[in-house]
Amino acid sequence: MGREARRKREQRQRAAKLTPTPGNPHGVLEMQGLAAEVVEFFPGPDAVEFTPTVWVREMFDSIAAKGQVEVPCGGCTTCCHHATVEIHEQFDDGASYQTHIEPDGRRILNQQADGSCIYLTNNQCSIYDRRPVVCRTFDCRAYMVLAVVPSPGFKFILEKANEKFKFPKPMSPADEEFIEAARFTFGYAVSVKKMDSEAAASYALEHWQEHVKAVRIMSKMRDHVASLSPEDQQKFLEEFKRHAPRGGR
Ligand code: SF4
Ligand code: SF4
Repeated sequence: MGREARRKREQRQRAAKLTPTPGNPHGVLEMQGLAAEVVEFFPGPDAVEFTPTVWVREMFDSIAAKGQVEVPCGGCTTCCHHATVEIHEQFDDGASYQTHIEPDGRRILNQQADGSCIYLTNNQCSIYDRRPVVCRTFDCRAYMVLAVVPSPGFKFILEKANEKFKFPKPMSPADEEFIEAARFTFGYAVSVKKMDSEAAASYALEHWQEHVKAVRIMSKMRDHVASLSPEDQQKFLEEFKRHAPRGGR
């Protein structure tokens, strides 16, 4: 791990102790700290650089137009090997696919014995032109930005994303802000809005702008706390807890 990555990680770990704060009434930062622990970024030598804020705008445009997200997959089919593809009847004709109903009521594409999608043949999608909406809009970079593993199958997808894509270095302030705000919003959606992690991921990518201000304030506070001696940090936190307003939205 590089020096900068280590500094950021230590900063997040320190931040995880800042609870409660005005912007962190329900321990969102702890979530963020945990997520950062789960995923480390080690892009491979051929990793494709991407600009997070540009990409997220393109992704929203594409989804709004019910289009297709152009992910430079370059022959990768990791999703098709590990994802659970849900059929959304408002976009997909469920009867035209080989599916089953899960105990929770979701209609899911059938899988082969090794867990890969029933339509994956010779490492290619055999129904590419009519693949379900989830396949047309899935983008592993979303989870890379959020640094979360929503379910066990995503572990492999995230590993692949971390191999294939990398953030530009140095990252632009706008991109840094987007990533911080998106991670914060994800934690907020999970801990305050009680969303499951997949719904929270979508929520975070859609609503991150609403949390930019809170993230800026917390970032200033983190920098301030990081500059104090351990004793002064303790005093600061005790003092802060006494005065911090409580309660969430
Ligand atoms: S893991 Fe990423 S790069 Fe690989 S197929 Fe899925 S979306 Fe494409
Ligand atoms: S339908 Fe096609 S794109 Fe979707 S998971 Fe199956 S093989 Fe992959």
